[in-house]
Amino acid sequence: MSRYAVIGAGPSGLAAARALTARGIDLDGYEASHGVGGLWDIANPRSTMYESAHLISSRTTTEFAEFPMRSTVDYPGHRALLQYFRQYSDHFGLTEVFRFGTTVTRLEPRDGGWDVTSEGPDGTQTRWYAGAVLANGTLAEPNIPTFSGEFSGELLHTRSYRSASQLSGARVLVVGGGNSGCDIAVDAVHHAASVDMSVRRGYHFVPRYLFGRPSDTLNQGRPLPPRLKQAIDSRVLRAFTGDPVRFGFPTPDHRIYESHPVVNTAVLGHIGQGDLRVRPDIERFDGQTVRFRDGSSDDYDLVLLATGYRLDYPFVDREHLQWRGAAPRLFLHIFPASFNGLFVMGMVEASGIGWQGRYEQAELLASYLDAVETDPARAARFRQRVVGAPWPDLTGGYRYLGLDRMAYYVNKDAYRGAVRREVRGLASAVV
Ligand SMILES: Cc1cc2nc3c(=O)[nH]c(=O)nc-3n(C[C@H](O)[C@H](O)[C@H](O)COP(=O)(O)OP(=O)(O)OC[C@H]3O[C@@H](n4cnc5c(N)ncnc54)[C@H](O)[C@@H]3O)c2cc1C
Repeated sequence: MSRYAVIGAGPSGLAAARALTARGIDLDGYEASHGVGGLWDIANPRSTMYESAHLISSRTTTEFAEFPMRSTVDYPGHRALLQYFRQYSDHFGLTEVFRFGTTVTRLEPRDGGWDVTSEGPDGTQTRWYAGAVLANGTLAEPNIPTFSGEFSGELLHTRSYRSASQLSGARVLVVGGGNSGCDIAVDAVHHAASVDMSVRRGYHFVPRYLFGRPSDTLNQGRPLPPRLKQAIDSRVLRAFTGDPVRFGFPTPDHRIYESHPVVNTAVLGHIGQGDLRVRPDIERFDGQTVRFRDGSSDDYDLVLLATGYRLDYPFVDREHLQWRGAAPRLFLHIFPASFNGLFVMGMVEASGIGWQGRYEQAELLASYLDAVETDPARAARFRQRVVGAPWPDLTGGYRYLGLDRMAYYVNKDAYRGAVRREVRGLASAVV
């Protein structure tokens, strides 16, 4: 029986471990941190969580279907989520399959499988596996833009932001108005001397609740055609949150759902109260002065870059993951077309995909690995389809912004539908 390595014990690695062990597939898990939970464990040195963070997708659309959360809170905080992942891991006997405090440092192909080198309490070790599942997370490696000039105050990326006390008494400029940028701007309002937010483009702001229910629970299971959904939801948002342009944001250069929506309306409330100002894109730094593109400038003590993250699989040469631009090019964001024994979990971003969407990736992987073991002809048919047929459109008809951070963005319904079709295909004798 083949044995696989799973790298990372965050939600995606746990999902992989659960789906593989449920099929009787042997694995060793590697986790650099002291326990499970991935970035939801704020004490994990690679975590990009901060004290005030809560889910932005609601509990029922996010949790693993076979293991509902015990909490009845709609948008639990990171501590409750860490508890949840610990319970999930213990319940399915996953904790014992991981080596903690053990970082994978290198993957090298050998004899049709992979040598996995790790560093941990037992020193440096290399073990051979039939394949390796990469679930090391997508939100750990900061994306740091280059700016003209130099800033002589404190420059921080959200990666290093943990608590609002870091902002106490400072004149803060948050760069970027995505979900983390808005969360942190709201934190700053209560602690900083002043708060500005510099944005390059406009955003669509979605309230956590619409009609008294978590907004992402509305219209579940019946996806509308993109244009219709965009038209209806834009109207609803306009009625509830108003026009973000009125709050000083630029007009969005994209329709709603063509980029990740910002689930935060507190930020608009604070702008309305005069606690927070929206500023244009940065032109250059000049000591503690930040010059903006509209010719205005201001002095700041702290610039907080909420400029996102980039994909990084530092332990494996890029050619093995067939990188194209900002992301590896993988079938359903999981399988390299070379079927070289590497599999990626969690490299998928979508509005509302939740951990169940990530679990379905794991289910497909487990179905494939099971077929490799028990019905090689079926596995070969899957590979032929991947190599020989066009890959499914995962956009759901939405035209996503051509940004690096959208390189692995999908429409959740299109994506989950495609993954489930492949799971069914692998389960049937002839497709
Ligand atoms: C502030 C914030 C809010 C978010 N809110 C939501 C939300 O509301 N809904 C949602 O669905 N998603 C949300 N996310 C996205 C989040 O990334 C996913 O929920 C989820 O954590 C992804 O799981 P993962 O297992 O792929 O990655 P991670 O949680 O990042 O886990 C990766 C694990 O791999 C380990 N690791 C990395 N490199 C190595 C190595 N070389 N060797 C061994 N171990 C390694 C890390 O220590 C880590 O434990 C949010 C993210 C942030 C930062």
